[in-house]
Amino acid sequence: MSITNLCWIRRDLRLSDHHALSQALKNGDQTYILFIFDKNILNKLDDKKDRRVQFIIESLLDLELQLNKFNASLIVRFGEPVEEIVKVSKDFRINALYFNRDYEPYAKKRDESVTKEIQRLGLEVHTFKDHVFYEKHEVLNGSREIYKVFTPYKNKWLETFRNHESVIPNYKCNLKKCAQSKTKITLSSNDLFDLIGFIPIDQDLKAGERNALKTLEKFKKNISRYKEARDFPALNLTSNLSPYIRMGNLSIREMIKSSLESEDEGSQIWLSEIIWRDFYQVILDAYPKVEKNCFKSAYDKIRWTGTSHHFRLWCQGQTGYPIVDAAMRCLNTTGTMHNRLRMIVASFLTKTLLIDWRKGEEYFAAKLLDFDLAANNGGWQWSASTGVDAQPYFRIFNPYNQSEKFDPDGKFIKTWCPELSKFSKKHIHYPHESDMVEQIEAQCFIGEQYPHPIVAYKKQKELALAMFKLAVKD
Ligand SMILES: Cc1cc2nc3c(=O)[nH]c(=O)nc-3n(C[C@H](O)[C@H](O)[C@H](O)COP(=O)(O)OP(=O)(O)OC[C@H]3O[C@@H](n4cnc5c(N)ncnc54)[C@H](O)[C@@H]3O)c2cc1C
Repeated sequence: MSITNLCWIRRDLRLSDHHALSQALKNGDQTYILFIFDKNILNKLDDKKDRRVQFIIESLLDLELQLNKFNASLIVRFGEPVEEIVKVSKDFRINALYFNRDYEPYAKKRDESVTKEIQRLGLEVHTFKDHVFYEKHEVLNGSREIYKVFTPYKNKWLETFRNHESVIPNYKCNLKKCAQSKTKITLSSNDLFDLIGFIPIDQDLKAGERNALKTLEKFKKNISRYKEARDFPALNLTSNLSPYIRMGNLSIREMIKSSLESEDEGSQIWLSEIIWRDFYQVILDAYPKVEKNCFKSAYDKIRWTGTSHHFRLWCQGQTGYPIVDAAMRCLNTTGTMHNRLRMIVASFLTKTLLIDWRKGEEYFAAKLLDFDLAANNGGWQWSASTGVDAQPYFRIFNPYNQSEKFDPDGKFIKTWCPELSKFSKKHIHYPHESDMVEQIEAQCFIGEQYPHPIVAYKKQKELALAMFKLAVKD
């Protein structure tokens, strides 16, 4: 009897080094590849011009193009995942379902329901590790517990890696065994946008495996500069791979392999960042409560006193703090933000504007092209001091110092706040301290073309310290 498998792809939109797909192909005579646009997720998106949707559709079209070369094609559905998988399994007479594991609370519940229903039909379900390098049970402390501090976790991760991974796996996919799902061979962009009721947008960042690999190759040329350059947004010398890794256009193993090609410090620090990614995935998997609550429960008692008016100004990039405004305008326009800037704006929202980290997290989730629940939650809770191994609450970023240190010439600020572009090197960080002569020469009046600071940093810092102290006191 011939065996027909179904590989359900979700946030692993590639055809090479794909754990579930490689196994489905290996164990079957033919394999269909299915992607489902999940109604539960898409119906929550108010804006029908969504960057992530655009990125996913481009990724799917790229896969379709590659599959067509093997006379194969994707199955794409829009609906409730359990119902769609059951329908597809029946329609295509599937023997077994294959997919890579996902560690987000919603995804875990969804996958449990799908597994139950598929098994009820008498079919097999096989799941695989692919999205992370190590899952939660693979890097444990001496008491076989999950690490709650990053540095020892990283050391154990590296030790485990050195002891067990003489060769990093590459899950080869024999695409000749992929099946043809329809009579009309090629999917078009219009087909997909029509299917889900979204509208195409034009964005600079192009999705797909080939673009991911190109981005990786470009970054590798500068990887040795990563250590000293990674904190300066205007240099743009980080990898910019996060949207690709988030959608799985690139495998995590490929990134790790690249980090090991050289022994310089830049490569080692880059690998550490990738280990942070595993760390936050483990935390979300083991402590799903962090999705809604502070990792440190005491901080759930904080009474955030910031106003919704200030929140709106933060979102719009109109706070009167140039580095914050430039970062937020960049996010709003491109869907991306440099890591240093994420830390600055998150610290500013929580510890200067005294607004709950969950509001900022939600805003990032709506805007970021690389939005990933584990990393975003981890980043926000780190910045707000409420998270696992977070910075202590009394460490409060001074936005002016951060700006002078990490955008010394104001190059990044000038790109996104062009009204400030004629201010001096000093006043680009503090335009409200410039005198009227400078404002006339810069053709920018503070309070008119650019706002006064909406709050006074020093006073807010005192309030933040009091607010945190009160919560940890009891
Ligand atoms: C408030 C806040 C929110 C964040 N939200 C997200 C998010 O939604 N999605 C996301 O991928 N990252 C998030 N990060 C982490 C980090 O900012 C981005 O991963 C990074 O800016 C992506 O740029 P890059 O690909 O050039 O990174 P590089 O510096 O080249 O790093 C390589 C890869 O390592 C991973 N990585 C790097 N730093 C971190 C980190 N601190 N935590 C987890 N993984 C990391 C990413 O996958 C990244 O692509 C957030 C950080 C903060 C402070």
